[in-house]
Amino acid sequence: MSRFWSPFVKDLVPYVPGEQPKLDNLIKLNTNENPYGPSPKVIEAIRGHLDDSLRLYPAPNADDLKSSIADYYGVTSAQVFVGNGSDEVLAHLFQALFQHGKPVLMPDISYSFYPVYCGLYGIEAKPLPLDENFRIRVEDYQGDNGGIIFPNPNAPTGILLPLDGIEQILQANPDSVVVVDEAYIDFGGETAIALVDRYPNLLVTQTLSKSRSLAGLRVGLAVGHADLIEALERIKNSFNSYPLDRLAIVGATAAFEDQAYFAQCCHTVIDSREQLSAALTQLDFEVLPSAANFVFARHRQRDAAELAAGLRERKVIVRHFRQPRIEQFLRITVGTPEQNQALLQALNSLLQG
Ligand SMILES: *Cc1c(COP(=O)(O)O)cnc(C)c1O
Repeated sequence: MSRFWSPFVKDLVPYVPGEQPKLDNLIKLNTNENPYGPSPKVIEAIRGHLDDSLRLYPAPNADDLKSSIADYYGVTSAQVFVGNGSDEVLAHLFQALFQHGKPVLMPDISYSFYPVYCGLYGIEAKPLPLDENFRIRVEDYQGDNGGIIFPNPNAPTGILLPLDGIEQILQANPDSVVVVDEAYIDFGGETAIALVDRYPNLLVTQTLSKSRSLAGLRVGLAVGHADLIEALERIKNSFNSYPLDRLAIVGATAAFEDQAYFAQCCHTVIDSREQLSAALTQLDFEVLPSAANFVFARHRQRDAAELAAGLRERKVIVRHFRQPRIEQFLRITVGTPEQNQALLQALNSLLQG
């Protein structure tokens, strides 16, 4: 702390991202990155733009990218917003679309960036407990509120809420914006984008960081009614006119155009997830049903913090949250079959010790 800090910054509680270790012989299953690289067409597109044009500013509204996304989802470009990672899109929507002065509803076990944005923008967060099976209780999401947000599938549980549950929440809250954060939807869920034309209060966010293997490029998006998108554009244009650089725009556009690579990659990760879940169950873990590229599991006998530390000694890193209700769980990103095998071997030796 310094005497130059504003009173506001003194009280900020920032988000803590998962560790990005410098050592490269570690098996990194802690931040839900894709174990496979992006489409070769993405690399080719970026290479094709590594030239003198970098002296020029990028397209301020990333229109080419918006129209690829609009085509992909069968919406109009006016229904699409893009940002520097979906974290930035989330930040803008907390400011643009949640009503300050009323609590924003979210699950108690959820993406820990949401309460951080509440702190940043002076919004009250109202966490609603998941049920005993770690599912969202749809009937709790009603009454006076300033907005609603949840990931679907939820993180870090991986549990999917079917679209009819989302519709119930939308119908119970016609006067609030309901945000469905679909960071992991491509690994087994059905997107709520199909509902945006019927619900003007629905905003769906997605990221290219997970299913499209582009965490390093920083591209996220939102789809919703054009009026919601316009609010996000207002914030964006009051904050940073060029959140996506030229390489990010062409790379992300190419990613949406290579459907075959994307489908194959998601399919492989889903297969590996099912195998990993079965193997963990064999090792006496309780594994929550996951529709994401990670599994959330607790061992029936052994302490999660000790297991995480033991795995680390064996060069495998997973995520452990010291948080009530989930302190005995490990969140394990689905890796390649070889990485998953190494994790299982490390666990085997730990559990025998
Ligand atoms: C990873 C993740 C994001 C952030 O994605 P970026 O586009 O990389 O900023 C948002 N929401 C959830 C639930 C996530 O897990």
